[in-house]
Amino acid sequence: MAGEQILVVEDNERSMKLFQDVLRATGYRTLEASTGGQALMLAARHGPALVLMDIRLPDMSGVEALSRLRTDERTARIPVLAVTAQAMKGDRARFMQAGFDGYLSKPVDIDELLANVEQHCGRAGRAPDR
Ligand code: MN
Repeated sequence: MAGEQILVVEDNERSMKLFQDVLRATGYRTLEASTGGQALMLAARHGPALVLMDIRLPDMSGVEALSRLRTDERTARIPVLAVTAQAMKGDRARFMQAGFDGYLSKPVDIDELLANVEQHCGRAGRAPDR
């Protein structure tokens, strides 16, 4: 579903550039946040179709940011994919249990990234008033 807006939350500049380049080349529009606080503000303001959420952020964890998105009715239904460099055994189960809609480990496989984005993009729909 190209053309959808995706919020990329990532504090590593190189990873951010990679995600942006890949998503834009595929036809998606992107919003960028390098902190959890920025992400919450942009998500509430723009209602993106999907959020890619880095787990290690400067001001709060991606898990905390997810939990705050879920408790705000403006952002509660936006699908959120966890992106983590931790890559520890049991990560997927842990992040799915935390409420993420999907999980990607770094280094991110581009085909896997795009497959996940396509699968989840717009799945929850927008809030009725948007
Ligand atoms: Mn990070």
